[in-house]
Amino acid sequence: ATPIAILVGTGRGAQLGVLVTGPEALESAERIDTIVLDKTGTLTSGRMSVANVVAAEGEDATDAIARAAAVERGSEHPVAAAIVAAAGAGQTATDLEAIAGRGVIGTVDGLRVFAGRAAWIVERGGALTPELEAAVDAAEERGTVVVVGWADAGGALRARAVIEIADTVRAESAEAIARLREMGLEPVLLTGDNARIAASVAAELGIERVRAGVLPEGKVDEIAALRAEGRTVAMVGDGVNDAAALASADLGIAMGGGTDAALHASDIALMRDDPRGIVTAVALSRRTMRIIR
Ligand code: ADP
Ligand code: MG
Repeated sequence: ATPIAILVGTGRGAQLGVLVTGPEALESAERIDTIVLDKTGTLTSGRMSVANVVAAEGEDATDAIARAAAVERGSEHPVAAAIVAAAGAGQTATDLEAIAGRGVIGTVDGLRVFAGRAAWIVERGGALTPELEAAVDAAEERGTVVVVGWADAGGALRARAVIEIADTVRAESAEAIARLREMGLEPVLLTGDNARIAASVAAELGIERVRAGVLPEGKVDEIAALRAEGRTVAMVGDGVNDAAALASADLGIAMGGGTDAALHASDIALMRDDPRGIVTAVALSRRTMRIIR
């Protein structure tokens, strides 16, 4: 039978905006010593906006944004919302394929259009011109970068524009990280985004351990590596790209505004889009388990 204290703790959690999926979640939450946090949508607002667009020689930036938006209408990633908002009303690509942690592909005006991380476009054969390479370099200093490309008449994929996307660190993140530290938990930032923006967010929040440029399957490996060090690991995330890592951690915590995939892979769901809910969840688990012992 489930101890009364767990039932009471679960009920209390719901009042505090922390939804616990089962009796084991509070027990696991008490044992964790390491909190791995996703960046985009977890520590940052995930309400992104396009800050700049650099088109390759001979390309039109407005055209590139419109084509990128047509494929991003098939994605639920926060960068997709930013690009669609920048483009305004427009067409939706057909034969859409969203590839978690990489980007989206779709057919627009008879062309296969790619929008995603620079390394992925390059891997698909869409080499960056030196000017676009420089644009990626400059934009990574400030934010998230999406490269848009499509094939030329000869059928070869070519990168056409670099889109710089801005996000803001949540006002509550610094307090959440400071309190987790006070509780003896080590925070680790784990993101698919570029190393420079990741380092800047980590520095702002006082997080020392950072893993950036990590693909969704790599997030699972990072959790496994931390567990192999003897740590008991909670993962906090919001995206489709976090789902496997959330499921593989000792404890998965989904952010309030997160995707269904993140929610279903988690043991605890925060009802609010506020990382201080992580502190509430750990504190609740500690109180609850103290009563049982
Ligand atoms: P995070 O771990 O920060 O949530 P993701 O793993 O979701 O990041 O994405 C990593 C990178 O992959 C993004 O910064 C972006 O460059 C690219 N990317 C992911 N999804 C998309 C998309 N729908 N459109 C364009 N780029 C994308
Ligand atoms: Mg995220």
